[in-house]
Amino acid sequence: MIKNYSPLKALGCSLIGHRYQVSCEVNDHIQELCCCTCHKQMTRTIYGKFVPLNERHSEINRILNHVDRKRKEARM
Ligand SMILES: [Zn+2]
Repeated sequence: MIKNYSPLKALGCSLIGHRYQVSCEVNDHIQELCCCTCHKQMTRTIYGKFVPLNERHSEINRILNHVDRKRKEARM
């Protein structure tokens, strides 16, 4: 699930902070983010929390993304 995650770089991140970039736009409110230094993956949840991306969250995000795409298709 977490590709190229580096504990050593994560240690650097814990000192200077992660540099998150959006890796996936799930819908208008939710994005998956990835630290471009240590590749730690995080996600925003439907509750507005910022949490580490685990299998459960990525499953939820896949469903939300699917629903969002259907919704946008229906609008067109
Ligand atoms: Zn990092």
